[in-house]
Amino acid sequence: MRMILVGPPGAGKGTQAARLVDTYQIPHISTGDMLRAAVNEGTELGKCADGYMQRGELVPDSLVIAMVIERIGKADCASGFMLDGFPRTRPQAEALDQALQDANVALDAVVLISVPDEFIVKRITGRRCDPDTGEIYHLEFRPPPDDIQDRVIQRKDDTEEACLARLAKYHSETAPIIPFYRDQGILREVDGNAAPTDVTARITTALQ
Ligand code: AMP
Repeated sequence: MRMILVGPPGAGKGTQAARLVDTYQIPHISTGDMLRAAVNEGTELGKCADGYMQRGELVPDSLVIAMVIERIGKADCASGFMLDGFPRTRPQAEALDQALQDANVALDAVVLISVPDEFIVKRITGRRCDPDTGEIYHLEFRPPPDDIQDRVIQRKDDTEEACLARLAKYHSETAPIIPFYRDQGILREVDGNAAPTDVTARITTALQ
């Protein structure tokens, strides 16, 4: 299964990807996680990406495309992968298409997780992550258990200001890739405004 999860920031792509990769036994490739790791490691890519990420802007296509093409060429992606947060622009979608064509493989599905804008800021600003396990929590909707409350962290770009910038970028840059996949007949749209278990069930049904 070669698939993509698309949706606005805070739609639950990371949460859903973590739940779905067990079912489909494919690697979860999150460009946001890869870029955050590069920033933490202080690599050239990380130094370049840091400012864009903190401002809620997109990292330049050339950097992200090279990073993803290299990653999906690895042995663990031979029979599939779940892309989370990529592609985010039309040039990224076209570069991915070309790379898959060159490898003689095709995407099976693109799942769009829809959440109305008015819910996004609350979802994002309340989001917390356990740095040890990668588990994602929400202060109100899914509070972290008492024993890990002291170690959960907030992403630097989960402020209201960066969130609004990311949402604007989603509408201007990412939403235009949706018709590209709809025209290919592989788009599956799922309402993401529900509890994570319900959204997982909707995605699983949409993929059948
Ligand atoms: P995410 O964890 O998917 O919300 O991504 C966090 C940030 O990483 C984004 O706001 C961008 O700055 C950057 N980023 C992640 N994926 C991409 C991508 N495909 N293209 C450009 N920038 C990206």
